[in-house]
Amino acid sequence: MYQYEVITPQTALSFVVGALRYGQEVKLKTALMATDKGLTNLLNKTVFESLIEKPQEIKTYDDFLDKITVEDRSALIMGIYHNSYGDEYTTETTCPYCGKTNKNLVRLSKYSKASFYNGKPLEFLNIKKELSFNNDNFKITLVPATLRNELTLVDMTQTLDLTVTQTTILLHTKQIEYDNKTFTVENNLIDILATLDLLLPKDVRQIRKTIEEVFEKYKLEVPYKVKCVHCNQEYSRTLDFVGEFFKQVIEA
Ligand SMILES: [Zn+2]
Repeated sequence: MYQYEVITPQTALSFVVGALRYGQEVKLKTALMATDKGLTNLLNKTVFESLIEKPQEIKTYDDFLDKITVEDRSALIMGIYHNSYGDEYTTETTCPYCGKTNKNLVRLSKYSKASFYNGKPLEFLNIKKELSFNNDNFKITLVPATLRNELTLVDMTQTLDLTVTQTTILLHTKQIEYDNKTFTVENNLIDILATLDLLLPKDVRQIRKTIEEVFEKYKLEVPYKVKCVHCNQEYSRTLDFVGEFFKQVIEA
């Protein structure tokens, strides 16, 4: 029986995860092919079902959505991935110097690197960070990106094309105050996007940077180096777990 203990890097909870079962793989695969309404939900359910042991703080699926963050889920997915598909797999990257493709063997156990938030279980969820711009006419309150925030956002943005920065900011936004009006993602998504558009680019970069420093730096990642076989230059990449996980599912 494949088992793996995972400590979530942000909320500091201990789980034992199992492997993906064939039936789950088939379901995910079908959802991926059918382009993706409900995919995020299915991914969350699949991860939840693969938890063999859960901490007392997480009893129900709703607890899981409210208390686990997107980065925490990535760490859990890596455990499941490991149990299901093994330690090694091949990535394809494009060399930034010559534009050609390199194939690499990456070992999860060898390259993985974790940075943990130093606090009691779930303490991370209490972090709130407020930033203001425009002579205090614009205030944004940032919070951890829980799976619940992500689901809300996915529901709201089915038909919108958002940039990575917009998505990251919205995932972490509790509320925005602008001109003495308060906007939330659930109720005023379009107003929030319009208000962000009014900020200076440097202000938006500062929001992005704050998110990185306060929230995103606690995570499990797999950085690796590639030496290009075509031009001999070296470059670095970080593995995208969720993406690789889906790729394995699709190819299965
Ligand atoms: Zn190259």
